[in-house]
Amino acid sequence: MKKIVSFFIVALVLSFLLVIFAASKSKPVPKVESGKIIVATSFYPLAEFAKRIGGDYVDVVNITPAGVEAHDYEPTPRDITSIRVSKIFLYQGAGFDPWAERVAQDLIGTDIKVMNITNQFDLRSIASDGTSAKDPHVWLDPVLAQKEVKIIRDALISVFPQHSDTFNQNADAFNVKLAELDVFIGKSLTGCALSDIIVSHQAFSYFSSRYGINETAISGISPEEEPSAQRLGEVAQLAKEKNIKTIFFETLASPKLAETVAREAGLTTSVLNPLEGLTLEEIRAGKDYLSVMTDNVHNLQQALQCQNK
Ligand SMILES: [Zn+2]
Repeated sequence: MKKIVSFFIVALVLSFLLVIFAASKSKPVPKVESGKIIVATSFYPLAEFAKRIGGDYVDVVNITPAGVEAHDYEPTPRDITSIRVSKIFLYQGAGFDPWAERVAQDLIGTDIKVMNITNQFDLRSIASDGTSAKDPHVWLDPVLAQKEVKIIRDALISVFPQHSDTFNQNADAFNVKLAELDVFIGKSLTGCALSDIIVSHQAFSYFSSRYGINETAISGISPEEEPSAQRLGEVAQLAKEKNIKTIFFETLASPKLAETVAREAGLTTSVLNPLEGLTLEEIRAGKDYLSVMTDNVHNLQQALQCQNK
């Protein structure tokens, strides 16, 4: 009897802890403070850009939680409530965040300003799973990221025109940093012995074309796409032909595929972060767009055997 009672007590405590844990993982709906606009964003870079531009005048709620890969996120009812109390909803579009496209449809007729960021870009077409798709990963090219900043700035100004001076100044200041990053990457990746990279999913085509790199992805446009055994064999063969020594994996997707190919082809692995979200550790370490991009460049320099280290 004593055993049964203690079993129930343990079970009760465990379920209580589970409830606390679940509640702590769920983001609270933001409170509407006077003088602040709530901006909801579908994933990390849009949230960081909106915060940098909006400063103290915005309260940004990023819907895809930290540590979660953004391509396949499904919003909770609380997420939908957060979007509905916001003044602006920013999402990437072009199939990157399909849930956000569905939410955007539901917001038609409300007074929430909804922005599909990639609608304003001339996107690259890429083959994915035998069909042609548009590539949404524009934020990984710091030059195109500057255009994203301008789109978000204009959205903020249209909703809160009285703060246009601040939004313009903040956007200009961040775009100077992005322009400096572009120069830094260009310099860092010249004079390299190699120019081919193998990555987990096809996120780096804009980045690669900007800096003269050839990208080969193990899986397609989304990290969830499962490559065939034949595809893994092709990638291993390419590594051999191009003298590639490193396979890059990501922080938010499983490193399993990269590790499999690396093991079979006798290669090492390294991280190339597509910034589709930050892990909790990265947030605690104060990482952001600029510092993660800089880490990426250092890892690329190592893999491509660049001189300007
Ligand atoms: Zn992606």
